[in-house]
Amino acid sequence: MCNAIMQELKSFHTEFCPMASKDKGKGEEMKIKILILTMVLIFGFVIVPNVDAKAGIPDKVRIGLYYNDEKGGYNNTVANLKLSSSKGVRIYSSGTKGSLLWKYDGSKSITITKDSTSNKRLLVKSEDGSIVLKRDSLLYIVPGANVISVNGSKYRGAIEIKIVNGRDMTVINHVGLEDYLYGVVPCEIQSNSHTEALKAQAVAARTYVLNNMDKHAHLGFNLCARPVCQVYKGYSVERASTNAAVDGTKGKIVTYKGKPATTFYFSSSGGMTENVSNVWGGKFPYLVSVLDQYEGKNSWNYNWNKEFSPIEIEEIMKRRGSDIGRLTSIDVTKRSEAGRVIEMQVKGTKGSETFKNNNCRTVFSLYSQLFDVDMGKGMFMVSSDDNIYSSTTVNKKVVSAYGTAIFTKHAKNLSVIGAGYKGILEGTPNTIKITGKGWGHAVGMSQEGAKGMAVEGFRFDEILRHYYPGTKVE
Ligand SMILES: [Zn+2]
Repeated sequence: MCNAIMQELKSFHTEFCPMASKDKGKGEEMKIKILILTMVLIFGFVIVPNVDAKAGIPDKVRIGLYYNDEKGGYNNTVANLKLSSSKGVRIYSSGTKGSLLWKYDGSKSITITKDSTSNKRLLVKSEDGSIVLKRDSLLYIVPGANVISVNGSKYRGAIEIKIVNGRDMTVINHVGLEDYLYGVVPCEIQSNSHTEALKAQAVAARTYVLNNMDKHAHLGFNLCARPVCQVYKGYSVERASTNAAVDGTKGKIVTYKGKPATTFYFSSSGGMTENVSNVWGGKFPYLVSVLDQYEGKNSWNYNWNKEFSPIEIEEIMKRRGSDIGRLTSIDVTKRSEAGRVIEMQVKGTKGSETFKNNNCRTVFSLYSQLFDVDMGKGMFMVSSDDNIYSSTTVNKKVVSAYGTAIFTKHAKNLSVIGAGYKGILEGTPNTIKITGKGWGHAVGMSQEGAKGMAVEGFRFDEILRHYYPGTKVE
């Protein structure tokens, strides 16, 4: 799941999985997870197939490669598609049980476009540009070989192309579950990780599918290929090591009381994972805080910091519809037992807003919920029209009845004695420095921790049971 977000090697991402950063598309990811957890809270059930866990494992999944999601505000439908396989393609009217419309045995490519004069017609052109097929709404394309190339990316399985609501083409990959996982695991964890960590990742990814088969049902497929589900890049990114991890755990999933568990995972925790109630709310007996003592402390984004100017914070608040005026402080008012910020107050001259749990992280797009805030306060000279004349006291003069003094250092607070006033003038924020540890939401399996455990000799099932306590791997 995008929890997978959690790749640490930046270069790896750039090369194979540029979308795999857990924090890209995090808004949508979080919304969806919150939805799931809210349902659990309100209705008291976990969305799982109402059958024996093992019997509920599907053979095939439908993965949205290009699609439009009106409600989610996402659209990557395509106007042109170039397809080819080394042994030609067969085009059916629907699934393979539909009628065969056209076939080609060579290795040349075909191009499919949406007819610009219609809002539902698809045109299939051969390599020489001649139109070989016109068809409304849907095409189901089966390659003669194992893989099919779609705009340069290779996929196992078949490709469904359709027009939805007059948009450009929606493209869905119909693929075997295990074949799908071949294209997921290398995007969610480095393929050179220890075998047992790769296997743990494969099982977590397989289990994730079972609880999310209906996630995009309204769009005609099960899961998308983006971090908001699990990053999937098909055959093009497969590696021998990750394929072996999928094969070596074939059909295995994490269960709790006989049902598939909700297997969230993330990159690194900073020492301890988090109880789901402190992140998205809700209660899962196995999504609780556990010690993450084996994680490598040098993972991508393990130690991080971010800096903001007061104006940047004020703008972020404004965009949320909360005009706090001039920022005066950001106070962490509550932490979880594991140390994560679970309540935070952003105060200004006109008002304040309180954030809880995961929102403490997402409001400022931080890498994790485990952080400290340093307001870097200083003295400002503010005129009556609110213009700031100085953000540091260094070299500024103070004039009193006894003469003039010059500040040699930057003062965070100032003691003032006047005719009718004696007290401390609190400094106003200068640069807000946020320093944190870990990357990702910290609920469930820590991928860095899993790697560390694997190196220490733990098997994949022991790793999974550590991060999802009380579960079974079967
Ligand atoms: Zn998705």
